[in-house]
Amino acid sequence: MTLDNIKEEIMSAKNIAILTHESPDGDAVGSALAMYNALKQLGKDVDLIMPEYPSIFAFLPSAKEIKETGKEDSYDLAIAVDCSDLKRIAGDTNFENANTTISIDHHGVNTMFADYNFVNPAIPACAQILITVLEYIGVQITKDIGTCIVAGIITDTGGFKYQGVTSETFEFVARLLNEGVNVSDVYKRVFQTITKTSFELKKLAMNRMEFLENGKITYTYITEEDKNNIGSQNGDHEGIVELGRDVEGVEVSIFIRQEKDGYKVSLRSNNYVNVSDIALLFGGGGHPRASGFTMNLPLDEAKERIISKVKMYL
Ligand code: 5GP
Ligand code: MN
Repeated sequence: MTLDNIKEEIMSAKNIAILTHESPDGDAVGSALAMYNALKQLGKDVDLIMPEYPSIFAFLPSAKEIKETGKEDSYDLAIAVDCSDLKRIAGDTNFENANTTISIDHHGVNTMFADYNFVNPAIPACAQILITVLEYIGVQITKDIGTCIVAGIITDTGGFKYQGVTSETFEFVARLLNEGVNVSDVYKRVFQTITKTSFELKKLAMNRMEFLENGKITYTYITEEDKNNIGSQNGDHEGIVELGRDVEGVEVSIFIRQEKDGYKVSLRSNNYVNVSDIALLFGGGGHPRASGFTMNLPLDEAKERIISKVKMYL
């Protein structure tokens, strides 16, 4: 069984790298830090490698230990959390060069790229899967580990409101509450409070929002120039794509943000459009109701291409 292999590999490894996807969200950062704190508890030599992450997660236990780059030598073991494919892993050379690799994830489109893959698309957050994995390998889920896990669960479930949340989600969170995790504080920090610059970015994106196809599609965008003008930080765009999705009658929300190396597209849907299928057409991936991909075209052209595909799925 995969969990036995994972346990064996973790127990026998001396030095371990933990990695997650580029533009890490709360589930990525929370899962990676939960794994980091757990492996430290087991006395391992661990590097958590993340070139960048949103500052709102800096309060999570051991966030100060996050390294921007890994070591030159290969690791005994590399563990990727919340990553659906190899090319999305930030610092993928550390992953590929490791002697053994493990992937723990909840994306239905996961390509099973590691030596050992523990993937369950029915679970709403990778952090929730980590509870099962860590308990199986004999880690005690402490308040610190639980805090990281709750951060992942809250962000990936939209604050416990998405489909996919089950009684198990609440049972786990109830147990973490009993361990002393301050769920309401984590909720406020990772889900409710936004930076001033994020607010400004949201205002801009909201003013620009277009309603298409009788209000079934929304579209908005943010450029590098906007971000520079506002002085925004990593992660400030979080929540923009949901603004469109949450309007009555909307099925698909499209949000494009310019990055240094191209355009990053986020898609969300409400009831029936599988946006993961649409993202796959453009070389990306995700979940049925939340997906993304990158595009290297002028903005207008990118917009037209995406909208014409989305229309076909309405
Ligand atoms: P977001 O829109 O928040 O960036 O991403 C939504 C979902 O789509 C997440 O599950 C994320 O992992 C996935 N996703 C976003 N961008 C990409 C991409 O470029 N490639 C793949 N494979 N998945 C992506
Ligand atoms: Mn996730």
